[in-house]
Amino acid sequence: MKVDVKKLNKISEIREEVLVLGVFQGQASRDKVVNQVDDLTGGVVVRFLAKNKKFGKIFDTVTFHISPKDHKKLERVVLVGLGKPEKLDVYVLRQIAGFIGKNAVKETTSMALYLPQQAKIADNADMVVTGVATGMFDPGHHKSKNEESKEKVKVESITFLTEEIVKSDQMQKGLLMADAINKAREVVNKPANIITPEYMVNFAKKMAAEGKLKIEIFSEKQVNEMGMGIMASVARGSEEDLYFVVMRYLGAGSQGPTLAIVGKGITFDSGGISIKPSESMEWMKMDMAGAAACFGAMEVIAKLKFKINVICACPLTENLLSGKATKPGDVVTGLSGKTVEVINTDAEGRLVLSDALTYVQKNFKPDYIVDLATLTGASVVALGNVATAALGRPQKFVDAVIQAGEQTGERMWQLPLYDEYRDLLKSYIADIANISPGRGAGTETGAKFLEEFVDKKQKWVHLDIAPTAWEEGDKPYISKGATGYGITTLVDLAFNLSKKGGL
Ligand SMILES: [Zn+2]
Repeated sequence: MKVDVKKLNKISEIREEVLVLGVFQGQASRDKVVNQVDDLTGGVVVRFLAKNKKFGKIFDTVTFHISPKDHKKLERVVLVGLGKPEKLDVYVLRQIAGFIGKNAVKETTSMALYLPQQAKIADNADMVVTGVATGMFDPGHHKSKNEESKEKVKVESITFLTEEIVKSDQMQKGLLMADAINKAREVVNKPANIITPEYMVNFAKKMAAEGKLKIEIFSEKQVNEMGMGIMASVARGSEEDLYFVVMRYLGAGSQGPTLAIVGKGITFDSGGISIKPSESMEWMKMDMAGAAACFGAMEVIAKLKFKINVICACPLTENLLSGKATKPGDVVTGLSGKTVEVINTDAEGRLVLSDALTYVQKNFKPDYIVDLATLTGASVVALGNVATAALGRPQKFVDAVIQAGEQTGERMWQLPLYDEYRDLLKSYIADIANISPGRGAGTETGAKFLEEFVDKKQKWVHLDIAPTAWEEGDKPYISKGATGYGITTLVDLAFNLSKKGGL
């Protein structure tokens, strides 16, 4: 797909098949472009708006067909509601763009998009492109295709019609991000009989090759030999080997800042011996969404050549049960030398991440670490499917991560790391237990467990993406299933950190 920017002079000059016009609630009839379109429809648009004075709420949409007599190229004009101007932030804008991609461009090869000036398209062109291109994503990878669907018309070009100066590199960035997001969504959606740890290794290799990145792959045997016994304990019940993937992008040399991103890559989580209830267990194929997002972000960061070093470290394994599986009560030792009492084998994400966190600190001494993990159901209870839980330190770095999310329409909400939560993880036999005995504060104790493996002075943020990595139902702006959450945040964070030269 191509993206382009043009000045909108006259409607008659449009060369695209579909024109999408974003309109603010109750303001459409005053828009001069809408009025130009009205002339093409012989007054149908204005008549519609006169009858529907409140038209323009978010996701409101209406289509007007244009006769070949009135315009040589343009077949349809679609009005899409933007809501109220004061409520149009990046989060809403990205959703509206997703809505346009999902709904307004069917059976079309070329689309022109016009948004009014208040939509501040120049600042957020990348997110509009990302939104449209991710909205178009169809998750039906495993439906047997009939002849009809093979011939489906697809959008080949999007043209922004605007008076503002939109930089083409912003739009290219939007396309790169969408491409990485959609690739990540595909692997997260695909089932665990296909997406094994080994498949994820090959996925990581492809992403690394795209970005010309250095990649190291440690086998389960090597992980054990290196002393990462906490990580390895999770893989014991599975027939599939565990892999630990480390990717490096060196964009800043030895003097520049280094960001480490660590992603949870459980390709299927049965819970292990502490087995989950069977209801909704099929979703547990998505427990590698953190790793998929990290690989996606690496590809984009490398292609955009940011002046920062980024290390990506992802453990990839299944969490299954067998005669060899780790049992509740087992004690395991990690790379840090610390011992963990595994009270619940379903709290395995923190186990694989703990050794990955130790590994990146020992080997790369990063200035910043962000880990992404579908870690706790408790974060979904706390925030619904609306925001990611962010926990970390120091506050300045937490703010920087949350801000990168805000810039790209990925919401986060900070939860605390009070010392009292550490008390809940006391073990009578080991240094720490992997779960608290009570029911409360599941997200906080999860993060507190990880903090145990993060040096005191290390800048670190844990993102619990369990609420946002997956859409349980079809939404107007995104298909059901994997969302690719985290990629745009990581890309913008890496860019921000490269610019400031440190916090
Ligand atoms: Zn689990």
